[in-house]
Amino acid sequence: MNQIINIWLKIDPSSLRVRLTLGVAGVSAFGLGSLAIWTSWKMQQILINGHKHNVEQIAERLPRDVQLYGEIMPSSAGLQKAINNLTTTNTFLWIKSSEHKILAKSLNWNQLSYTTAAELMSLTEMSVKPQVAKVSQRYFVLCSSALPIQDKTLGKLFVVQDVTSEQTIFLVIVRNLGIGSIVAIMTISVAIAFYIQHSLQPLRQLSQMTQIISLADLGQAQLYLDNAPSEVKELAKTFDMMLSRLSQSWEQERQFVSNVSHELRTPLTIVHGYLQSVLRRQNNLTPTQQEALETAALEAERTIRLLQHLLDLARADSGYLHLHKEPCVLNDLVAEVVSMAKKYSGRTIKIESTTQSIEVKIDYNRLKQVLLNLIDNAVKYSEADTPIILKLNQQGQEAIIQVCDQGCGIPLQEQSRIFERFYRVDEARDRSTGGYGLGLSIVKTFVEGMGGTVTVRSRMDQGSVFTITLPACSLLE
Ligand code: ADP
Repeated sequence: MNQIINIWLKIDPSSLRVRLTLGVAGVSAFGLGSLAIWTSWKMQQILINGHKHNVEQIAERLPRDVQLYGEIMPSSAGLQKAINNLTTTNTFLWIKSSEHKILAKSLNWNQLSYTTAAELMSLTEMSVKPQVAKVSQRYFVLCSSALPIQDKTLGKLFVVQDVTSEQTIFLVIVRNLGIGSIVAIMTISVAIAFYIQHSLQPLRQLSQMTQIISLADLGQAQLYLDNAPSEVKELAKTFDMMLSRLSQSWEQERQFVSNVSHELRTPLTIVHGYLQSVLRRQNNLTPTQQEALETAALEAERTIRLLQHLLDLARADSGYLHLHKEPCVLNDLVAEVVSMAKKYSGRTIKIESTTQSIEVKIDYNRLKQVLLNLIDNAVKYSEADTPIILKLNQQGQEAIIQVCDQGCGIPLQEQSRIFERFYRVDEARDRSTGGYGLGLSIVKTFVEGMGGTVTVRSRMDQGSVFTITLPACSLLE
């Protein structure tokens, strides 16, 4: 039962499969239903309408016969003779006076049971047009009409024909047609549902293939479908062409960013150098000039960092980010980074290490840059009087570095997005910190390039922990 409910819940009413199945089932229900109704109508005509016609003719002929016999014999004998002449095995006739007294009747009533005969004869009203009615579990075509003899009404003529066997056959046919149509509609619907599901399989394959195409394999991506209908093959071809155009424009954009970053970085580095040397050598600058030059040098430095980040990301995207991995002791690298960070930030930064020496094979300078980025963020997003802690330990084949702060934290729903390029949690909150939202994407690119992973755990107003996991040396050798 639960399984059926689960399948029912999984059905998507707006899917092509459900729509096509319902459409085809509807059309076949309409077609088969119409055919069944037409067949029933035709069967009724064949089986019953002949009897109706017969009864109608008897009702028309009897008054004429009574008139004729009345001329050659006494009227009551003429009446009985006329009735006897028109009586057949299944046809029953009787004439009632206006006081409902039986004036004459056919002589074949012994064919019917007593109750059926009594019930029939007790009827006082019947329609003039012959109609089928059920009397005492049997079916009859009934009709009645006034019996006029020589301009006065003698009584009422009742003509009845037993059609039980024909009506039973008719009802059995109608029931079987109904059941047959329902079974046929259900079978057609199930068969169509399976057929449509099978036909839509190439489309599902196409969607699965496109889902796994990443930015990195955009250029080589090729959608190939075996045994697919030509329309789907055509769609796959169009997709391929679109992917190739996308790849080209992505490549051009990457090239553009890389070129612009490269071209701007060199003159800016020169400008920054000149500004630094002026600031160092000139003692006769007014405070305003000093401040203006310091601001210019700071902005130049920030922009050089941004350009360097853009250049690194563009190189990583095109596969030209070369990492010079070499074995080194992680504890030494962390100690060096911490002493540098302490100097420029003036903050309390502690190291907590469980082992004396953890060996890893990494790009020394890139990992330094990664840790400086994380410490820089911890400094930016926490109060000056709170400490920043770097935890170092090894678990099996993995070296783990954690950068912990007690700052403002990152909302849960943003935590998966902060590693995206140019993503910043809250522009208003982050504007004062002066970043561009590229630091963590650089961290992720470098760490993954060294075979590691980076994750974040954070609670609002309690702080954040960034965890870097790198393969320990023994794993690589
Ligand atoms: P930015 O240069 O703007 O700091 P990042 O890529 O380094 O860019 O960080 C992305 C966003 O993640 C930041 O805008 C900031 O809101 C959030 N973030 C990063 N580190 C922390 C942290 N330690 N505490 C709180 N928020 C952080």
